[in-house]
Amino acid sequence: MSLRAEVVSVGTELLLGQTVDTNAAYLAKSLSSLGITVYRRTTVGDNLPRLVTALKAAFAENDIVITIGGLGPTMDDLTRDGIAEALGDTLERDEEIVANLTQFFLARGVTPTENNFRQAYVPRHGRALKNPHGTAPGLYFHKDGKVAFALPGPPNEFIPMVENEVAPIIHAMTGDTATIQSRVLRIIGMGESLVEDTVKDLMLSTNPTVAPYAKVGEVHLRVTAKAATKSEADDLINARVEELKQRLGEVIYAENDETLERAVVSLLRAKMVSISTAESCTGGLLAQRITDVPGSSEIFPGGIICYSNETKIRLLGVDPNQLERTGAVSEETAVALAEGVRKSFHTTLGVGITGIAGPGGGTEAKPVGLVYIALSTPETTLCERCLFIGSRSIVRTRSSQTALNIMRLQVLRSQ
Ligand code: AMP
Ligand code: MG
Repeated sequence: MSLRAEVVSVGTELLLGQTVDTNAAYLAKSLSSLGITVYRRTTVGDNLPRLVTALKAAFAENDIVITIGGLGPTMDDLTRDGIAEALGDTLERDEEIVANLTQFFLARGVTPTENNFRQAYVPRHGRALKNPHGTAPGLYFHKDGKVAFALPGPPNEFIPMVENEVAPIIHAMTGDTATIQSRVLRIIGMGESLVEDTVKDLMLSTNPTVAPYAKVGEVHLRVTAKAATKSEADDLINARVEELKQRLGEVIYAENDETLERAVVSLLRAKMVSISTAESCTGGLLAQRITDVPGSSEIFPGGIICYSNETKIRLLGVDPNQLERTGAVSEETAVALAEGVRKSFHTTLGVGITGIAGPGGGTEAKPVGLVYIALSTPETTLCERCLFIGSRSIVRTRSSQTALNIMRLQVLRSQ
């Protein structure tokens, strides 16, 4: 039986919907990879009686309770007191933390106020957890067979503490008795229902499990295995991933956290294929995504945002008569943009994007979401006509997504 945990997120801003609880989602993933069953997630406001009630319920049913937030120096930061009360523990002032805090403030020319030293209290049955990115240390409680961790809310402090402080303690508690491992296959160019139809027999298996998730412009397929050790879980996953790859083929573009732009840039770099972009409706989004990837300068000399007809004519050599005849949103324009930019930047490939992102500007013949994406290659120029649904920003995201995939497939297929 694996150990059971409850995650308690503390903060009125979470209940008001002003902050999204990304920390709890992150923690849930980490705990499952450590083989811990997350039994319940609770969110409670900055209110001591309600916090204590929630914590008592959490301790009653779980071995481990992890709180997020409410560790700061102000009156509404009540998590320390709440856990101590729920566990029947006391807090004691730690002179080493007092000295460190004093040093921190002096180095910044600030005189600490008394409430800053609220952060110097640690449990009698437990200790402080290091927080190199902030002033509030985390806390570890261990009393009457129950374990609690209190972690600060800011994600840049929270995430490293999960990895560097919490994970080693939990790992020592479980040994190698259980682990849950996952791998994500990232798919583009095949819709969620077709993906599901292609692999539905494998989705019936319970270990490993296979589950699809639809994202904007792509589908993720998560393979999750439970086993006594990480290497056994990895073996189960590897075998299933091989089978999925055989069935799905080139629609799988990467695994886990690898983004489409990173996968495409590394493919272009490996094949020494350069690219330039001429973007109308995406306003530079494609170029931004390419240049988000370090090292992209090797294959991307630049692009042009050609939002107006005049720019399309003047900088990309689009024929004004053709523009007049076909309109800016047309296959002819996308092709002319792709060929024009490729010629002017001397790149192997050139991409041209023109479309109607909305919300206005659509007609019956050319509705909102109509986007032409052309790719000029040394041999020919291809053009794809797309009809995207969604808001202006989704249409733009899907356009850049499709353009990246067209580039990817071109390079993959021409090797
Ligand atoms: P606290 O540690 O409660 O003082 O929280 C400090 C800041 O961290 C808050 O203002 C939020 O912006 C952020 N924060 C708190 N809890 C969470 C959470 N569960 N997920 C993401 N961000 C959070
Ligand atoms: Mg708070």
